[in-house]
Amino acid sequence: MQFLYHMPTKIIFGRNCINSNSAEFLNYGRKPLIITGNSSAKKCGALADIIQALCEHSMSYELYDGVKPNPTVANVMEALDVIHEHKCDFVIAIGGGSPIDAGKAVSLFATQNYIDHDNLFTTLYTEQPLPFIAIPTTAGTGSEVTQYSILTDVKNETKKNLSHVNLFPKIAFLDPRYTENLPYEITINTAIDAFSHAIESHLSKRATEMSKLVSGEAMRIIVPCLLNLSQNTPVPKDIRGKLLYASMLGGIAIAQTGTTIVHAMGYSLTYFKNLDHGMANGVLLCKYLEYVYANDPTQISQILALLNMNKLKDLESIIEQHVKHNFDITDEEICLYSQKAIYTKAAANTTPSPSFDDIKNIYCSSLSL
Ligand code: NAP
Ligand code: FE
Repeated sequence: MQFLYHMPTKIIFGRNCINSNSAEFLNYGRKPLIITGNSSAKKCGALADIIQALCEHSMSYELYDGVKPNPTVANVMEALDVIHEHKCDFVIAIGGGSPIDAGKAVSLFATQNYIDHDNLFTTLYTEQPLPFIAIPTTAGTGSEVTQYSILTDVKNETKKNLSHVNLFPKIAFLDPRYTENLPYEITINTAIDAFSHAIESHLSKRATEMSKLVSGEAMRIIVPCLLNLSQNTPVPKDIRGKLLYASMLGGIAIAQTGTTIVHAMGYSLTYFKNLDHGMANGVLLCKYLEYVYANDPTQISQILALLNMNKLKDLESIIEQHVKHNFDITDEEICLYSQKAIYTKAAANTTPSPSFDDIKNIYCSSLSL
């Protein structure tokens, strides 16, 4: 057996975990820039908890609350101006994957002597980023435990992955209370994102015994949660905690293996059709599983065995009950999206390696064309 497993983030999980561990902030600097989206960090109570923790230790802070969903490079550069202007020495991001990913990029760019805007995603960044702390308020991306920052690259009309070993957060504080008032739709979309991470990681070319232990556990936790979620019933607190934990496991798994063609294909549905990130993966997941099954059934059988299921259809029906989309798409658009997906790292992680026609087929059959 051979594997490399690297996960340097300190994880602090539990209700009121920021309040109980407020001295942690003293280890990373004197004045953080807090990065959030428009309103959820305030509404869910996380921002107040952070401010209280900083005040307890007489630390000042600056707030940037302008991160948009699927943040663009321009959005990150705006936050970067704030950090330079106010001379902050570490970064705290509160939110879904969007503020956390924007925060990672800000912490990285803040210390570089020169930023090559034409090669932002391929530069070998040599300076250590500012210390970065992540506080998730959705249960889906697992970004609090990954080295990835996914940004919208308007110039190339896609989402790109800024990946660097130094982008792992120093600490992730996971408090399920922050996810308790998530609207149903965001709960589903993000749960499907986490499920997709676990499945893709398990099937990735780079999967190892160790990563499969983590991705398998994430799947085992998420399936009963998906079975219990329904539009008209409030989400019980124990399910909130399980989803947050499982989404973290999904993040740990993809940090080792990367994602696969599902994520690469989903980015175009988000960029061009404005479909939510998690839902974009959900729409494609069943036909991706069928594609893998047709070429390598043992991989899928292993997943079904883990989940105590007999048939792939059993797993598909759990996904299908939550998936919906509502947009028109042309053959020309599908060819463009397939072209974009095939040259990604995620495509290279996919086994068996998909051809242009395989990718096109997954799009067409997923979107019922
Ligand atoms: P998001 O884009 O961060 O947020 C979506 C919406 O949810 C926003 O309107 C946000 O409001 C709201 N929201 C967040 N927390 C909430 C709460 N507790 N209560 C009510 N509303 C809340 O959503 P996300 O799905 O978590 O993140 C998606 C992004 O993560 C995508 O860009 C995706 O590519 C990326 N991603 C990254 C990784 C990685 O490893 N780095 C992995 C997968 C996905 P506010 O705007 O007011 O905050
Ligand atoms: Fe994702």
